[in-house]
Amino acid sequence: MHETAIVSSLFEVIQRQIAEHDIPRVIRVNLKIGDFAVVEPMTLRACFEVFAEGTVVEGAELVIQRVPIVGRCRRCGHQFEVKNHDFRCLGCANSSVEMLSGKELYIDSLDVEA
Ligand SMILES: [Zn+2]
Repeated sequence: MHETAIVSSLFEVIQRQIAEHDIPRVIRVNLKIGDFAVVEPMTLRACFEVFAEGTVVEGAELVIQRVPIVGRCRRCGHQFEVKNHDFRCLGCANSSVEMLSGKELYIDSLDVEA
C-alpha cells in the first residue's frame, strides 16, 4: 500500500529527530501534504498509529495540513490555484503550466515533550 511506504519514510525522519535531540515523547506530528500527492488521510492515520505503537510517538496527534496546487502559466505568467487537476491557465487557457506547489509531503515540525 502506497500510504505504508509514505508513513515508513516519515518515520525514518521522525526516528532520526528523536535520536538526535533525545526526545522523550512526541505529542504532535505536523505534516504538510500537497493536494497533488494522492494520499488518503484516513489510511495515513491508520498506518501512522501502527508505526507509532510501542515508540515515543505512540498516542501523538497527527495533524495534516493540505497544500493547494498552485500553477503558473508559462505563457502569460498568471498564477492560480489548480482545481480538479485542471492545469489550464485561467488567464489565457494555455496548458503549459508550471506547478509551484502541491507536491509537498513532509514533516513540517514535531511538537515534543521537553
Ligand atoms: Zn496564461
